[in-house]
Parts: sequence; C-alpha cells; structure tokens
Amino acid sequence: MKQILLTIDDAPSKHTITKLTWLKKHTIPAIFFIRGEFAQKYPEQLRAIITAGYPVGNHSYSHPNFSKLTLEECSNEIELTEHLINQAYKETNLVRPYKIIRFPFGDRGSRVISSLSNSSVEAQLQTYLAQHGFHHLNPTTSSYIDIGWDLDPQDYKKKHIQDIELYKKNLAQLLLNYASKSGTLLLHDFDTNPELFAITMNYLCQNKYTFLSPKEFPCPILPDKNSP
Ligand SMILES: [Zn+2]
Repeated sequence: MKQILLTIDDAPSKHTITKLTWLKKHTIPAIFFIRGEFAQKYPEQLRAIITAGYPVGNHSYSHPNFSKLTLEECSNEIELTEHLINQAYKETNLVRPYKIIRFPFGDRGSRVISSLSNSSVEAQLQTYLAQHGFHHLNPTTSSYIDIGWDLDPQDYKKKHIQDIELYKKNLAQLLLNYASKSGTLLLHDFDTNPELFAITMNYLCQNKYTFLSPKEFPCPILPDKNSP
C-alpha cells in the first residue's frame, strides 16, 4: 500500500500552523476536520488552514457520540460548526469548495452504546446530510455521505504520546499489514501530540508513500469504531 489520503481530525490546535507549513513545503494534500469548540479557541489557525488551500470538513461542535443524541441534537452539533466554518471562509474572502463531514468517533448514529441508546438515527442523519448539501466524496464506493477512515495509528493514545518508539513500531506494522492499494489515514490535530504528526509524516515520506488529493481517492472509506 503506497497511496494515502491524509485526514487530520479535531483541528485546529496550537500546532496547526506548524503542520500546515510542513505540508505546504512538501506539497502534501490533506483534509482537516474541524471541531467547533476548537475553532472558537483557535480562529486564526482555522483561517490559516483555509488560506493555505486545504479543504476543511465538519467534525461536530463538542465531539459527542451521535448514537447518544436525538436527530435534533446531532443537527445542532453540525450546524454550530458549519456556522464557524462558513464564517472563517467569509473572513478570508475565499469560496468554500464543498461541505464534507466526519462524525466524531465515526459514529453514524446507529451504535448500541448503552442500554439507554436511542433507536437508530443513522438513516435520518444520512438524509439530513443529503438535504443539507453535504458532498459525497466517494459515491461509487461508499453508500455513506460522511467520510470514514481505514488506517488509524492511534496518535491520540497516551501510551503512544509517551513512548515514541512504540508508536513508530505500531505505525510500521499497521501499514505493513494493510493489503489495499490505498487507504485513508487518520491523524489528530490535538494540542498534546505534535511529535507524532512529524514522526508519521517523516515515516511516510522516507518509505515513498504518495498522497492522494480527496478527488483522486478511489477506495471505500469505512470507519473504525473506537477512535476519536
Ligand atoms: Zn475526533
């Protein structure tokens, strides 16, 4: 597997601009999925992503499990972040290319999380996304409008943040075991893990991986169940 669609969740952070500078320098495409509460904390960093020409997607406002919410609560989470993203585009005088979304935890609203879980809102949420103009990135390979992932090196885990060698080993094994020609890689733009971004990108470049732009991406994109 040598082709990667790079996706960076839970942006922006205090490290976003360093990452952007590196990505731009190496002309590597990526999608940033924006968490609304972080956009409010780091508005300048959100504008920097947009100005640098990277597509941004919606990743909810406060990162709840959508399976625990009503459809109205889900739509509120989405709309709050849509407002912040649209506002940032307005402030930069740039046109938003498309609306895309990745659900927090990849939770499409159909998970049985506890005995208190509501009945599935999965189908209603997909209808909501279609009616509200969310872009379907891979209509030929996925029936879902939201964007999942299939490569998660777990850059958010405390054990990986504390032990870089363990993270490197895990990353190498993950990529080695992955049989498809291309995959969607999930990284996170948290305040706590900037070293793991650098390590991941250096590893991928040293091992001659190439990076796909979202439009080139040919594979099914399926979410993992446990990642933030
Ligand atoms: Zn997340």
